[in-house]
Amino acid sequence: MSAHGLTDMSMIRNWSKTLLLTELRSGLAVTLRNMLRPKVTVRYPEEKTPQSPRFRGLHAQRRYPNGEERCIACKLCEAVCPALAITIESDMRDDGTRRTTRYDIDLFKCIYCGFCEEACPVDAIVETRIHEYHMENRGENIMTKDKLLAVGDRYEAMIAADKAADSQYR
Ligand code: SF4
Ligand code: SF4
Repeated sequence: MSAHGLTDMSMIRNWSKTLLLTELRSGLAVTLRNMLRPKVTVRYPEEKTPQSPRFRGLHAQRRYPNGEERCIACKLCEAVCPALAITIESDMRDDGTRRTTRYDIDLFKCIYCGFCEEACPVDAIVETRIHEYHMENRGENIMTKDKLLAVGDRYEAMIAADKAADSQYR
């Protein structure tokens, strides 16, 4: 058969495909198949996907049950932070203990690696599973010590439960 003959054959095949709507039908078959499958999407925010207790979201500073802040200003988190997102200043208190006078985390620099939490010897700085937060004004990306402690105070029950669940994986 000549090259011209082959071209004729493929043209006939293409025309018959067009006339019989072959490609449209196979496309609709894919749609139909997927309509009957279980849905993989969720109606966020009403529905949410499961989260690991090890999820790394918004940071928090924790206190002991007596209200004393856990952080002892050792600066290990500041030293280990690969994004240089943590800034700490500290001073000695009247009782001789050292505490931070400034503890800032720049959320724009943070890469949510969790190293600060891993490095902390007293479980003071943690990354909560909170991920639904936003900023509206300049400067709100800085999580100050007061803001971090407020998050910790509000979500301590969840943080403690996540820490306990996390310890099972270690
Ligand atoms: S999560 Fe990582 S990048 Fe963010 S503050 Fe902690 S150590 Fe730094
Ligand atoms: S948060 Fe933890 S690691 Fe960071 S300065 Fe305080 S005690 Fe040290």
